[in-house]
Amino acid sequence: MHMHPRDPGEGLLVLPQDGARIDRLDAQRKRPEWLSEIWSTPGTRVLRLHGRRARLSGNRLEYEEATGPLPESAVALGAVDPAELPDGVASNRRGAAAPVHVVTVAHPKPADDAAAAGTTGTTWADLAFAGSQLTPLDAALLTQALAITAWHARTPFCASCGTPTEVEVSGWRRTCPNCGAQTFPRTDPAVITAVLDSDDRILLGSAHRWETHRYSTFAGFVEAGESVEAALAREIEEEAGVVVSDIRYMGSQSWPFPRSLMLGHFAVAADPHVARPDGDEIRDVRWFTRHELAEAAEAGDVTLPTRSSISRALIERWARDVDQPRPPTPDRLPAPVRTTARRVPPRPGLRPTEPPRPRPPTAGPLREDSSADETARLHLQLLHRTRPLRHPAGRRSARGDPGWPRRGTAPGRLHAEGPAVHPRRGRHRQDPGHHAPDRLRRPRRGL
Ligand SMILES: [Zn+2]
Repeated sequence: MHMHPRDPGEGLLVLPQDGARIDRLDAQRKRPEWLSEIWSTPGTRVLRLHGRRARLSGNRLEYEEATGPLPESAVALGAVDPAELPDGVASNRRGAAAPVHVVTVAHPKPADDAAAAGTTGTTWADLAFAGSQLTPLDAALLTQALAITAWHARTPFCASCGTPTEVEVSGWRRTCPNCGAQTFPRTDPAVITAVLDSDDRILLGSAHRWETHRYSTFAGFVEAGESVEAALAREIEEEAGVVVSDIRYMGSQSWPFPRSLMLGHFAVAADPHVARPDGDEIRDVRWFTRHELAEAAEAGDVTLPTRSSISRALIERWARDVDQPRPPTPDRLPAPVRTTARRVPPRPGLRPTEPPRPRPPTAGPLREDSSADETARLHLQLLHRTRPLRHPAGRRSARGDPGWPRRGTAPGRLHAEGPAVHPRRGRHRQDPGHHAPDRLRRPRRGL
């Protein structure tokens, strides 16, 4: 098997999906009959999605047996070591050398919460909530399943001629029967950055569309024709008014809401005093020392990003490091990229519409050894004791799903799913929900 677990490498972040071994079997999945063959192979497991969630048993995803005819939405995810799967339908193959195939099947509608609640011991995993509690394999398979499912949902027609497209390559390509155009699953690169200063403080921002106390790192999409470094510098200067240098890559995370690849970085602000919110997307920016952030999180004055996100991993890495992150060697220093900041008048803050965020079952343990001293350890403990969100109105969405806001619940509300058009600028946006690492800026697309 060709398993490719990600080796984060020295100094890089360790994220929930890291260490998963999935062989995507690129050569095999091109065979037209292959998906049918593995569907009828004993031991093949099915990861069933309902909307954006999968069934959870304890801390493991539930994998079903492949039965009945091959569903139209089936996509081959790849082969995994059966020993890494939870006990279940394929347990007779446990310990066998042969890998087990995993297929995902998507149901567009979320699972019926009432029915789900009636099933003892069953809960529903949302990647943004449960990602840090899952095993690396579960997290990686759920991420992959969400990403490929979201792509199919958004690519029913040919972009060239509008004809309905046909699914090929076991779910990994769509081809137009009219003009022959082929499309493949897309990923949008986005930069996400923890901005530090020479006093080793961290700059966090709070977006208008988040609940009041939520603070996170800064993020935005890489625009057409732009490098990662240029996008990073542009976003930080636009949103927080500071020019950054000493850009340091820290790791990446697939964020399939619907198709982002978050490229995590540290960067250092040249002049921390000029930090200011853009007044458009960002309501507030604040510098925190470790002690201040730990205290604010403990007091409930600051809500941090969800534990499974790379944004949280960046913040925790900063909190853990006693010393300031090493600046790159001078000859590798990217030059500060100056951009013309977009100055826009402030707008009234959007009313937060997000329902309360449930508390994770347990505090996520640190995924790596800490070299911090006692003070830093204390701060970390405080950081891990974040409180459940106190939503001002205590609203929940109509379907009772605590995970995602309702769509289109307020004028100008950015949808949690799919691209939305900014009410004023008409820019295409996507909003990965309030649990996303951060707000994302969608460049203009299309012809
Ligand atoms: Zn076509």
